[in-house]
Amino acid sequence: MFSREVKERLREYETPFYLYDLGLLRATLEGALREADRYGYLLHYALKANNDPRILSLISSYGLGADCVSGNEVRRAVETGFRPEHIVYAGVGKKDKEILYALEKGIFAFNCESKNELAVIDDLAGRMGVVADVALRINPGIDPHTHKYITTGKAENKFGIAFSEIEEVVDMSGDLQNLNIMGLHFHIGSQITDMSVFGRLCSSVNAMYRWFVAEGFNITDVNVGGGLGVDYDDPDSNRIPDFENYFGVFAGGLDLPASVRVHFELGRSIVAQCGELISTVLFTKVSGEGRKIALIDASMTELLRPALYNSAHAIENLDGHGAPEEYMIGGTVCESSDIFARNLMIPAMKRGDLISIKTAGAYGASMASRYNLHDIPLSVFGDNGVLENV
Ligand SMILES: *Cc1c(COP(=O)(O)O)cnc(C)c1O
Repeated sequence: MFSREVKERLREYETPFYLYDLGLLRATLEGALREADRYGYLLHYALKANNDPRILSLISSYGLGADCVSGNEVRRAVETGFRPEHIVYAGVGKKDKEILYALEKGIFAFNCESKNELAVIDDLAGRMGVVADVALRINPGIDPHTHKYITTGKAENKFGIAFSEIEEVVDMSGDLQNLNIMGLHFHIGSQITDMSVFGRLCSSVNAMYRWFVAEGFNITDVNVGGGLGVDYDDPDSNRIPDFENYFGVFAGGLDLPASVRVHFELGRSIVAQCGELISTVLFTKVSGEGRKIALIDASMTELLRPALYNSAHAIENLDGHGAPEEYMIGGTVCESSDIFARNLMIPAMKRGDLISIKTAGAYGASMASRYNLHDIPLSVFGDNGVLENV
């Protein structure tokens, strides 16, 4: 994929590091916006997928809003050019100081997930003498057919307000003098590749919208969350997700008045493919059962997904030698789950080879930790395969 020249330049950086292709990020944003614009949909970017300031500044320059799940994410969004009136703040557990900061900034809306939270935001807004715009996050009880750690809209999950509690929320809403309940919010999970799941979400959204309107609420905004999956198996063939099909499913399934604004909060599908983790082979050996093992200088501290979700990323040996052989690829951390691949067919690995772990732009760098006192990885930027001069 990389020219020889680019490969040699990659060796100038200390591995492991994240390499981002800003050209691909721009093309992805343009693709998403083109399809969303056809229906007048409003796009937000979920900062938790990748919060690198360069990436955020580029995304905000396209006019997207921001979906934040902490006070620090709200602050980072403001610092990188997202307009406060385009920022939504979601999350099951918001601290008082985070709520106060978001109220101060005058963000677009809080996505609230419990009666308890509504009462607290009402109280804090009252003390500040402001009215907070609020969307209720509804847990629609839908199985998104994705990994169990990234489902959020099943009845058993901790997220959102359960159907069984909605009537109580309606009953208490008259007392919430400092809240303006203007929206409904849904987010049922991540890495969703079965589009029929979004079709079922649309039916829930339609029913919930009609129910709230019948209860006398003036719902001006409906937020259907994010969750569109990407191709981890064959990233080079599917560099830009199928936004046409995705937004088309909502256009066909949602039945809302034209005056209701429809919002999306995409994370993974915007940034996953533009990032890869570049690493170097440290050692190779053979296990007791005769399996080839390559140990690379990246680990779960730079890319947690394989250890956390048992997820597989496509891996390329940029210095590939000859015919594919079967390898286990392990990281440096003292945890048995720190494995990038268990039985991968890949050209023979040698000490010093450069390795690319693909589709690492989302939930990669943003989940990095300093476990084992590892350094937080650098970000290196390129544009359509040409590296930036630094
Ligand atoms: C994580 C998250 C998103 C983004 O999900 P993706 O699967 O990355 O698109 C959107 N909304 C909320 C509330 C989230 O927590």
